[in-house]
Amino acid sequence: MPPELSDDLAVDVLIIGGGIQGHYLARQLADRYSVCLLTDPAARVETTEAEGYLSAGYEGNDANRIQPARRAAGYWKLWAESHELRHDEARTHYAVAPDELSTRPRLWSDASLVYREAELPGVFSGGSISDHVTFETSNDVLISPSVLLNELRRGIEHCCLRGSVIKISLNNDKAVDWVDVEIDGVTIPIVPRYTVLAASGGNAGLLQKVALRLRDPVRRKEGVDVAKASQAVRRRYLLCVRGADLPLVAGHYGGYTITAHTVDGGDVVWIVNPPIDDTLTTLGADDLRFEVNVDDKVVAGAVGALFAMSPQIEREAHHFQWHVYARRKTEHPMMAARNTAKVGQPAPAKIDNFGLEQFMALWPSHSSYAMIVGDVAAERIAESLGPKGDFGLALSPAEFAHAEPEPAIARWEAPGFGWRSWDAFRADHSID
Ligand SMILES: Cc1cc2nc3c(=O)[nH]c(=O)nc-3n(C[C@H](O)[C@H](O)[C@H](O)COP(=O)(O)OP(=O)(O)OC[C@H]3O[C@@H](n4cnc5c(N)ncnc54)[C@H](O)[C@@H]3O)c2cc1C
Repeated sequence: MPPELSDDLAVDVLIIGGGIQGHYLARQLADRYSVCLLTDPAARVETTEAEGYLSAGYEGNDANRIQPARRAAGYWKLWAESHELRHDEARTHYAVAPDELSTRPRLWSDASLVYREAELPGVFSGGSISDHVTFETSNDVLISPSVLLNELRRGIEHCCLRGSVIKISLNNDKAVDWVDVEIDGVTIPIVPRYTVLAASGGNAGLLQKVALRLRDPVRRKEGVDVAKASQAVRRRYLLCVRGADLPLVAGHYGGYTITAHTVDGGDVVWIVNPPIDDTLTTLGADDLRFEVNVDDKVVAGAVGALFAMSPQIEREAHHFQWHVYARRKTEHPMMAARNTAKVGQPAPAKIDNFGLEQFMALWPSHSSYAMIVGDVAAERIAESLGPKGDFGLALSPAEFAHAEPEPAIARWEAPGFGWRSWDAFRADHSID
């Protein structure tokens, strides 16, 4: 008999947010504690929106801050190898502009990043980056988000629950006492010993819910202010091109990141990322149920830059399928700077306990940092709860109707992704 949805779910650790961060942390804890990994099906998952380029920091501007990126990418490379996962289908490159040649490779040496000179891929022959010097960036890792997330979920499926947070309750302004979650129209209280927010762009909205429950008016006001300044949500465009004849190339070319993966059926998909325009970045809570608008001028600019870099892609545009979407990318508030040129990369990840006990909010900022942030978080939780959990999970999340997790799938490889012919895509986005 399936349990009644109105029953309480007592759990050692409740993790709100089932992206890479939540999954990584749940895996670290699940052998010692009862864990519930809650995902709101209505909220977009940044992990599966991403292109699957785990950067080791070659595009960074500061050797000290490249170190964590390098370490994290090294972890995921080893992890992919040891789990025999499909990864690094393309060699990764950085095409260095002539005016950067005296500084960039030197920065890589200072940061102990491995590189060696390579040929510019033929697909860029005769284009705007022909005078760039190309280097292979072998510390970078390419791995499809679906491959990564499904492997992280292996063995912890029973921890996964799909539902929306209705209310977060605090009895005495010290800790979260319970969380009301709606599953298929029924509200169920979850009573955790430790609560973690790993909802990325959803974190600020959840923090606001917590702040508004504080009884002390001073702390309540401070809490709302902290929630507002807790995260920056950037807008990032992904121009996707699909074709049987697309070469497998990936890397940093002319300020753009290009990531290539093979997808079902053997086609290759290129995901082309123009640089982020931070005039569209917002601070604080964002409503993740809504799609980010696509601006046709930005799309035309990205297509123009791609064609300038690769006259071959322009000539063969009719052979490919095209689509574009714009997504949120949640980062440390320092990334909210208006002028991206002044923003160092990569942004540091963030852990905040919001002045509460047995509670923390996590922002990895980049997929790869989920392991660094997750390890620190797991240590703090173990210090707080002791070596073994107290609660044998009263009910397993997987016992609930409709709780079974669906396999994760990257947006650009999902069936029903809006692929368009070149002519239709051009008309959709008013491209001359
Ligand atoms: C377009 C794009 C490209 C990127 N490219 C790269 C890259 O190449 N390399 C890299 O390292 N990083 C990249 N990133 C960043 C990276 O994807 C994110 O930093 C990372 O995926 C964040 O993981 P997360 O688990 O914190 O958040 P998410 O993956 O967003 O997971 C958050 C989870 O919380 C859930 N949720 C949200 N709100 C609520 C709520 N109220 N209640 C319950 N659940 C909720 C969501 O449904 C989701 O399951 C990219 C991001 C984007 C958007």
